[in-house]
Amino acid sequence: MKYDDEKCYQFHRKDLPDRCFACGRDAARLLIVRQVAGMMLVHLCPDCMLDHVDDYLLDNTRPWVGEKGKPA
Ligand SMILES: [Zn+2]
Repeated sequence: MKYDDEKCYQFHRKDLPDRCFACGRDAARLLIVRQVAGMMLVHLCPDCMLDHVDDYLLDNTRPWVGEKGKPA
């Protein structure tokens, strides 16, 4: 299966790479998740991920790169 990266991995236009999309804090550790409402990727701090677990999906459709984890 081939993914259309441009479409499938677009970040929300209001997302900032060093800020939590939900609370706006510049948390030390941010998760990249998919916002269910628009199916766009956003950065979330772990607290917001737990608080809004129904609104966001962990995006595990491709292996993480770097130190975030090992490929499936
Ligand atoms: Zn947050």
